[in-house]
Amino acid sequence: MNDEKAHDLRKIDPSVGGTVFERYFTGKNEANYVAPNTIFMTTNYVNLVAFETLEGLILVDTGMVEAGATVLEEIRKLTKAPLHTVIFTHGHMDHAFGLKPWLEAGEKPRVIAHENVIRRFRTYMKMAPMNININRNQFGIVADIHWPDKEGLFTWPDTIYRDQLTLHIGGEIFELHHAKGETDDATWVWARDRGIVCSGDTYVGMLPHCGNPQKVQRYPEEWADGLEAIASVGAELLLPGHGHPMEGKEEIRRRCLITAEALRAIVKQTLDGLNAGLTHEDIVASIKIPEHLAKEPFVDPLYDRPEFIARNLIRRYGGWWSGFSSQLLPAKMADQSREIIRLAGGVAPLVTRARELMDSDPALACHLAEWAALGAPEDRSAHECVIDVFGKRAESENSLMGRGLLSYAARKSQKVLDSLD
Ligand SMILES: [Zn+2]
Repeated sequence: MNDEKAHDLRKIDPSVGGTVFERYFTGKNEANYVAPNTIFMTTNYVNLVAFETLEGLILVDTGMVEAGATVLEEIRKLTKAPLHTVIFTHGHMDHAFGLKPWLEAGEKPRVIAHENVIRRFRTYMKMAPMNININRNQFGIVADIHWPDKEGLFTWPDTIYRDQLTLHIGGEIFELHHAKGETDDATWVWARDRGIVCSGDTYVGMLPHCGNPQKVQRYPEEWADGLEAIASVGAELLLPGHGHPMEGKEEIRRRCLITAEALRAIVKQTLDGLNAGLTHEDIVASIKIPEHLAKEPFVDPLYDRPEFIARNLIRRYGGWWSGFSSQLLPAKMADQSREIIRLAGGVAPLVTRARELMDSDPALACHLAEWAALGAPEDRSAHECVIDVFGKRAESENSLMGRGLLSYAARKSQKVLDSLD
């Protein structure tokens, strides 16, 4: 093991700040030993862990389909141990789709995952076009996205479990624990004899992203449970599915517990609001991470915002109706917008006012710009206004999802402008 390199990797401290990309996506295809017989590999989007044991290699996650060959190559530079067991920390595209090159190279591992991974894969086959669209929109991807839609494109686990599974491999114990959080199929791994936890996406070094505006239900309360469970095992080294390794029993415990507390605060405020009969908009407007937690950089809302998490909880516990009576059976937005333009005496007053407000009240400016474009879809000034107002708001937005979807509005209007030429 290259001690110097291992130390280098481990001393990186996510609390020093940085953008969501620097903190979450570590960026390089590189495999290194970070502890004896323990390899930590970073790829463009996701990390993997390989444990060398007396019976062979345990691989925790496999990377994206595109990264599979590189992962195999990099890990094979360090170890020739046969692949014994693969564990998927969940069934997301970046974690569970890179195993094919290993299988093609003749490896015959057992593949273990939580039972809900099977259901996720079946949903993926059913909803491929939708998933391509929403990922395209939130990340601004223009290249082709290949979403698996046939059974043969998945690596199906051959061993599933529900709550907890203890593996005895090479005289060591590896515990698999189920958690829900970003997904309902998550696993974190406790290599107890090594004092190492592989958190998958249960610890992410920022406010957990359980509010994604376009995606299926997330689980903030269970995410807090998972973080508290990780905090309780006393790991000396935490190897996350994204971002940088974290070292030190006390710091691992502290960060997991504080992150859990921040989630619990958002949950409590939201459920209290629902129980008090507040409107969804009043609940969302009132959400605040308590000062003593918000000052910790590892709960920065860099991926999702607390407001998005509150909306996700509202969806889980309540219905979809906003509480505004006209929105129960509403007129189409385009019809509302045309009427607003008529009352304003044309598109120009909306565009002018949107531009006036874009610094002082960007939220209101966005409404005005969107009404202009929806009500007058062939008006260039309306789309130029959307591009400027949403574009500027996107630039100043810290959350990845917020920025992605605000930019999407500007991209849509740019497309219309291009088609009007
Ligand atoms: Zn992930």
